[in-house]
Amino acid sequence: MNKIIISMDEDMNFRAYTLYATEMVEKMRKMHVTSPTASAALGRVIICSSMMGLMLKGQSDKLTTIVKGDGPAGQIIAVSNSEGNVKGYIENPNVEVPLKSEGKLDVGTAVGHKGTLTVIKDLGLRDPYVGNSKLISGEIAEDLTAYFAYSEQQPSSVMLGVLVDTDYSIKAAGGCIIQVMPNADEDIISKLEERATSITSITNLIEASKSVSEFHKALFYGFNMKVLEEKEVDYKCDCAWERFESALISLGKEELEQILQEDGEAELVCQFCSKKYHFDKEHLERILSEVIGNR
Ligand SMILES: [Zn+2]
Repeated sequence: MNKIIISMDEDMNFRAYTLYATEMVEKMRKMHVTSPTASAALGRVIICSSMMGLMLKGQSDKLTTIVKGDGPAGQIIAVSNSEGNVKGYIENPNVEVPLKSEGKLDVGTAVGHKGTLTVIKDLGLRDPYVGNSKLISGEIAEDLTAYFAYSEQQPSSVMLGVLVDTDYSIKAAGGCIIQVMPNADEDIISKLEERATSITSITNLIEASKSVSEFHKALFYGFNMKVLEEKEVDYKCDCAWERFESALISLGKEELEQILQEDGEAELVCQFCSKKYHFDKEHLERILSEVIGNR
């Protein structure tokens, strides 16, 4: 089960979001048929976006994370909501680059070491909040840590991990975002930093845990943590016919007439869940008459 724990240390020096997301990333992999490196890259982005979704205050707020690097993976997008549910897209799901010398997937090279990270928060106001930062390594966790520091002035530490099995399925996936509170006790923070550097592989911790509680316990070994909330999250797409109808409407009269003449039908595919929307002749004619009627 995919679950997030929101917790604090007992003296309220830091807050932590801990996500156990193996099934969620496996669902994503099956939908997008991603290569191992693409699974790790997109997986890390959706894991972080899911946790960031829970930081939103309003119920209908939305968060979009766009990673645009200069590597062969192309653009990576994740959209999450205040429930922590998330959907994502990677431009090149087949991307493969040679493994790193220690045998790990080279997400940084696939994403690119240069580029931008953009976070758009739709808070129901007239203009959305847009934050930008430069990519540090393309490894995603480091890039998001930098984003929190530069763009949100929120000292945070982001750890993300996706472990891909030999049959390309997801063996373990999850992550953690730690936010340091203002006026935090320096001794606790250095103890926390020590703990973080001692964790050489977050994926090993997830793999050894059977639930989010076990993973949370292992992460914060030596700390007295208070659980504020435990929540189930998932990879969910909210696409619907209306969205694709408006996309067709926006093509305009000439192009719609051309589609009707040449193909007599149209098929649109949701980039987030690969669901196919098939428009037959009758449906297209109805849309065309709506376009003409609105002129
Ligand atoms: Zn969809």
